[in-house]
Amino acid sequence: MRTAIFPGSFDPFTLGHMDVLESSLKLFDNIIIAVGFNSAKEKGYFKPELRVEMIKDIIRDKKNISVCSYSELTVELCKKLNVNYIVRGLRTTTDFELESVIAQANKKMKKDILTVFIPACQEYSFISSTVVRDVLIHNGDASMFLPENIDIEKYIEMNRK
Ligand code: ADP
Repeated sequence: MRTAIFPGSFDPFTLGHMDVLESSLKLFDNIIIAVGFNSAKEKGYFKPELRVEMIKDIIRDKKNISVCSYSELTVELCKKLNVNYIVRGLRTTTDFELESVIAQANKKMKKDILTVFIPACQEYSFISSTVVRDVLIHNGDASMFLPENIDIEKYIEMNRK
C-alpha cells in the first residue's frame, strides 16, 4: 500500500486542491491531507481546526483519504506517519521554483522522501486560496472556486465565533 501526504495551508481547500487530490489517487492507495499551521506565522483566515473540519466534510464520501493537522516540519510529520511521499501541485513556474527548493531541502533532511508534483489542470490553474479568501472577505460568491458539496457560509459563520 502506497501512502502519500498532501500538505498545505488549505485556507480554504479549493477545486484546484481537489483536482490534485484526485490525480494523486491514481498514483497512491491512500492520501493524508495534512493541514499545516505554524503559530509563529500569520494566522490565516479560517481557523486551522475549521479548515480540517471543512476538508472532512468535503471528503466525506471519498475512500482512502484522511485529514490531519500539523505544526512541525513536513518531514517530521512524514517520519511520524511513516510516509515517504509528498504530493504538491504546480500552477506556474514560480510554484516550480519554490517547490523544487523545498523538495530538495526535504530530501536532504530525510533521504527516502520523494516529492511528487502534479500539474494544475487548465480549468483550475488560476484558483488559489488567496483569491478565494479575497472574495469571501468582500462578501462575494466564491462557490465556483470551491467543491460543490461544501456549505461555505456555514464555515464563515463558525469562523466568526
Ligand atoms: P501552501 O501554503 O503550503 O502553498 P496551499 O493550500 O496554498 O498551501 O497549497 C497546497 C498545495 O496545492 C500546493 O502544492 C499548491 O501549489 C497546490 N495548489 C494550490 N492551488 C492549486 C491549483 N489551483 N491547482 C493545482 N495545485 C494547486
